[in-house]
Amino acid sequence: MNGEGRFAPTTQLQHKPTLLCCIATQLQGMVLDQGPNLARLWDGAAIHADRYGERAARLAALHSLGLDVPDGRLLPVDVVARLVAADVQYNVGDLVVPGQLVALRSSPQAAAWGGPSAILNIGMGDAVAVAPETYCRFIQHYAVTVDRVDAEAFEGLASVEACKAAYLEETGAEFPQDAGVQLQAAIKAMLRDWRSRSARILREAKGAPSDAGLALIVQNMAQGEVATARFVDAVSGEARLVCDAGSDIRGQLPGIGAAITHGLGDVYDIEFAAEKGVVRILDAEKAKRNARASVTIAVDLAKSGAISRDEALLRVDPRNLIEHLHPQISPGAVRDVFCSGMAASPGAATGAIVFSAEAAQAMALQGLECILVRGETSPEDIRGMQAARAVLTVRGGMTSHAAVIARGLGLPCVVGASDLKLNSKRKTLTALDRRMFREGDVVTIDGTTGQGLAGAVAMVPAALGGSFATLMEWADARRELGVRANADTPQDARVARGFRAEGIGLCRTEHMFFEENRINVMREMILADSTADRRAALERLLPIQRADFEELFDIMHGLPVTIRLLDPPLHEFLPSDAVDIQDLAKAMDLPVALLTARAGELAEVNPMLGMRGVRLGVVMPEIYEMQARAIFEATVAVNKRATAPVEPEVMIPLVSANREVELVKARIDAVAALVRAETGSAFNYRLGVMVETPRAALRSGDLAKSAAFLSFGTNDLTQMTYGLSRDDAGRFMRDYVHQGVFPEDPFHTLDLEGVGELLLMAAQRGRAANPDLVLGLCGEHGGDPASVRFCKLAGFDYVSCSPFRVPIARLAAAQATILST
Ligand code: PEP
Ligand code: MG
Repeated sequence: MNGEGRFAPTTQLQHKPTLLCCIATQLQGMVLDQGPNLARLWDGAAIHADRYGERAARLAALHSLGLDVPDGRLLPVDVVARLVAADVQYNVGDLVVPGQLVALRSSPQAAAWGGPSAILNIGMGDAVAVAPETYCRFIQHYAVTVDRVDAEAFEGLASVEACKAAYLEETGAEFPQDAGVQLQAAIKAMLRDWRSRSARILREAKGAPSDAGLALIVQNMAQGEVATARFVDAVSGEARLVCDAGSDIRGQLPGIGAAITHGLGDVYDIEFAAEKGVVRILDAEKAKRNARASVTIAVDLAKSGAISRDEALLRVDPRNLIEHLHPQISPGAVRDVFCSGMAASPGAATGAIVFSAEAAQAMALQGLECILVRGETSPEDIRGMQAARAVLTVRGGMTSHAAVIARGLGLPCVVGASDLKLNSKRKTLTALDRRMFREGDVVTIDGTTGQGLAGAVAMVPAALGGSFATLMEWADARRELGVRANADTPQDARVARGFRAEGIGLCRTEHMFFEENRINVMREMILADSTADRRAALERLLPIQRADFEELFDIMHGLPVTIRLLDPPLHEFLPSDAVDIQDLAKAMDLPVALLTARAGELAEVNPMLGMRGVRLGVVMPEIYEMQARAIFEATVAVNKRATAPVEPEVMIPLVSANREVELVKARIDAVAALVRAETGSAFNYRLGVMVETPRAALRSGDLAKSAAFLSFGTNDLTQMTYGLSRDDAGRFMRDYVHQGVFPEDPFHTLDLEGVGELLLMAAQRGRAANPDLVLGLCGEHGGDPASVRFCKLAGFDYVSCSPFRVPIARLAAAQATILST
């Protein structure tokens, strides 16, 4: 029992037989009268981070490892909290011994929260013999940190007398000579800094709770030269000793570093005092590391036996893996930021600004690198996006068109940069600071931070081998949840395989229709005014679709491929540009006015809730029939030549009633029977239903009777559960998150309370009706670590996400397994 419990508020002063009682006598408030009973760093295992803060716990652990750590007295979190709350002075008399110098160090419960810097050499005064320069430095440091005097007041002062005079001038008081007075003021200053608004905001941004705890360490100063040592490179994560101590000491450091690494299970930077060949450790902080280095360090720690493989897997934030997959801006690069928006797709790229998809394609044809800047993108921009190196949009949120497509393409993307003024006609982009950018101006998009930077910036390339590959192997060995990719094109599918996706969980077939050679056929099909004309256009689309599916099946080589039947409202395929309308009118041999009128008939007030998804399949069944035929003919063709048989999965979007599934299923079954009969080939297929509407979630028991699998489209399900447009949410999402309406953007990380409850209920009802039901999730949340963990706990079979997020999902799935066992 250390006795700190008896630290109690009092209105009576308790006089102590120390030099310091004189301070207390002038003050009303708390009195710390149990100094001798306070815990010490040398108490070892008794010093837990919860009560004494992470720094104290670490120093205590280093002492327990047999390393030389100066002892110190500890003010625990609860005591400090009461001091803070009461805003009182306290007697620290027992914590200092005249003539002995101490350092005051902050020890927050989690080191990552930061905390005020240490105040060293407390106790230094006229009666303590030190070199005049050292004394001068202390007076200045004390004045700046404790009394908030401007450092300039001490500039050029060399003598102790001059420093003391400056102190008197600036503070109106003599420089305190009493160690207790110094310590008391230092504690007060440290608590003032800890409580400051900026410190609170900073630590809350790092995940600290509003009542984050701070403990304090009053540590004996060690004699000697103070130096620091780092044992790993913060950028590469590779072992490398960097030390500013003399050569007599350097030889000892690798041994000390190894002892700490193995003892504490991580690499630490240390601050130490070296005197006569003795190293005394004053402080140890987890080695600084960037996202890439964190992977190398975790893998090396596990390989050296300092931690287990499971621990290594848990050490890496899955989101950090993204830094390996794309070029990133160099950590030390200068950033000339001209706009900020949402970090919609990570990585960085430099190029010349273009304002249209056509201009992007033209640039790409010339072999030039460009950045596509749009108000927001639409399906017509896909080819321009493919041609660009990065995308910047003024509007849009995390699941807007630009964001989803860019993540799929692995293209850096910033969306919702709403401070920008875009004038597409004049081809100018004006930043908040009035800087104007024109077509051809070079900018860099940092999709990892959500910033646009003027000019070209130094980059570091992608890094997929070495430690990254090792960590991924370990993750695969550990995870149970399947990870597939959302892939619409052969290029996506190849990337997905490269990242070891276990199949395609969502192929959005609509994206296949935007290629130049097919968009007009698609438009003819949409604008046909008779079933016969529609069938004729579909006949021309059939071989194109079949070839698409064959290529996907070939690339995925026997892995499951889930093909979603056409989903978006048809008007999305129609031209809006006058030139495109004329071209189409010519191709269809129709007057422009008639074509425009027909397109107008397709317009809907609320297309996302209109004629889309399965509704197309019910009302215009020939579209889905063509797609089903293309899927099955491709299956037969590939099965003839491939060693691994294809078993395609056909998925119906935006279902809300089981009857929709029954109608579509009957037609698809009939097409399958026809293709089998025509080709004389047997094949199987699995039919799945997307759960994207709250009603589908509620009725999943019915749906599960007709479906082999349910795949949760959590983009639409989030949109419909909240009644929140996924394309417009960017406008207020930042405010909503900032004001705590949403803890996070629900399009980014699954809303566990609302949408999550629907998922759990649907999973349970679905499995109750069909115990063999396979459950997957294919919304953007499939690449979000917290949502992946939820899917594992909810008993899902797989998640499917953008190809570039497959490694994130693999690691998150492994962590979910480790944490649930
Ligand atoms: C979804 O809604 O979650 C989904 C995967 O489909 P899309 O994003 O294409 O609407
Ligand atoms: Mg959807």
